[in-house]
Amino acid sequence: MPTLSKTEIDDFKAALRGQLILPDDAGYDEARTVWNAMIDRRPAMIARCAGVADVRVAIGFARAQHLPLAIRGGGHNIAGSAVCDDGLVIDLSGMKSVRVDPFARRACVEPGCTLGDLDHETQAFGLAVPVGINSTTGVAGLTLGGGFGWLSRRYGMTVDSLVSVDIVTADGELLHCSRDEHKDLFWALCGGGGNFGVVTMFEFQLHAVGPLVYGGLVVLPIEQGKEALRRYREAARSMPDELTVWCVASLAPPLPFLPAEAHGKPMIAFAVCYTGPIENGPHAVDAVRRFGSPSGEQLGSMPFTAWQQAFDQPLVPGNRNYWKSHNLSELPDGLIDTLIDTFRTLDATEYEVFFGQIGGATARVAVDATAYPARDTIYVMNIHARWSEPKDDARSIAWARMFFENTKPFALGSAYVNFMTEEETDRIAAVYGPNYQRLVAVKNRYDPDNLFRNNQNIKPSGSK
Ligand SMILES: Cc1cc2nc3c(=O)[nH]c(=O)nc-3n(C[C@H](O)[C@H](O)[C@H](O)COP(=O)(O)OP(=O)(O)OC[C@H]3O[C@@H](n4cnc5c(N)ncnc54)[C@H](O)[C@@H]3O)c2cc1C
Repeated sequence: MPTLSKTEIDDFKAALRGQLILPDDAGYDEARTVWNAMIDRRPAMIARCAGVADVRVAIGFARAQHLPLAIRGGGHNIAGSAVCDDGLVIDLSGMKSVRVDPFARRACVEPGCTLGDLDHETQAFGLAVPVGINSTTGVAGLTLGGGFGWLSRRYGMTVDSLVSVDIVTADGELLHCSRDEHKDLFWALCGGGGNFGVVTMFEFQLHAVGPLVYGGLVVLPIEQGKEALRRYREAARSMPDELTVWCVASLAPPLPFLPAEAHGKPMIAFAVCYTGPIENGPHAVDAVRRFGSPSGEQLGSMPFTAWQQAFDQPLVPGNRNYWKSHNLSELPDGLIDTLIDTFRTLDATEYEVFFGQIGGATARVAVDATAYPARDTIYVMNIHARWSEPKDDARSIAWARMFFENTKPFALGSAYVNFMTEEETDRIAAVYGPNYQRLVAVKNRYDPDNLFRNNQNIKPSGSK
């Protein structure tokens, strides 16, 4: 990093309405901490922007000083790309406004919002955007990678509800992009990540949801796993878009509805969310109860906002995490057998594999309609190692990689960009498949010097 003089730093600080946090400042360690405790980076400065003007100043400063640059929304990215060593972090976490127009069914959302912030504001009007399953995740990073969750089978990927964005590009210009303005840039932002500038506003189409949904968990002992997954696979083929069923293999946590003897034993759990008419809920989820003989279940109606927080507890920040991910179009027998045989003998509480079911509306969009291309993906499989002690790093990473390799033959070869760990840059072309070259062309036009490179990087032509 170039050495900055005190005057340069003071001038930068004075030009911001928000805060400039330096390594000796109180709050620096908190400000550089992200969700994944594996990430321990020390930026030279963190600009906690108060608005678009600050974002423009910060981009200009990073460009002029040739500083490494990172952009932080919710700080959830597993690769830790929200922070960089020795450079500048543009921290958007203070920009949290959500403006809902319930009549037009639109929401304008600032990039520091979490999914919980967004749900809070939209659900006040019985409306929602399809986003992820953990309320502390950032809207910004999730949306820019594609975004999916409990509403996606019904209403599509998050980007399928994106109407427009405001973005500050590498040259400091503020552009408003939509399907009609700066079309190529808008297309690229619908899945191409943080490669093209800093988004300062997301405008979403809203959909009627809730306020009550029907769902919960059905837990089976692992011994029933193979048969249960085959029944799940069969049932999934004809599920209505209003019903989404994710599946997770892990050791059973001490859930209050499970008998004590099931705690800590390998399990298959089905997480169910039905967003159709609430009175139809029990009937809609009944098939899931018949995947086997559950060791416990908890199903019922609840506010959508409560369901959106149901998985916050196991996914708290501060653990060490390593993920590997495959996209799947099916659950072949070989994959089911590998999963169940692995978990049958697993004794580590910290490892899980989940299958996020999408399809439905996500699959009824053309591959080239958005930069997010994986319209053939029906299950996003995530291999999730989570642990607390650095001494377990090697063991846990090796376990995730081993399971990833063992299941590769059953996968599509693509992946969800938001689930990729940092060393997977070589998968980027495969992730974007037929859309990759168009993304490179947009990158060439808007960020030819690759100022925005601390991400799953789409390199401009000619750069190494
Ligand atoms: C516990 C957990 C659960 C998750 N569940 C889901 C899920 O259900 N569905 C799903 O789709 N994903 C899910 N994810 C993945 C999630 O989409 C990514 O981690 C995403 O990057 C989070 O966004 P963020 O703003 O919090 O990330 P950050 O770490 O703040 O940012 C990640 C990257 O996004 C880019 N970025 C962020 N803000 C901006 C901006 N304003 N302008 C330009 N670029 C920007 C930057 O490149 C940045 O490095 C989950 C992640 C976690 C940790």
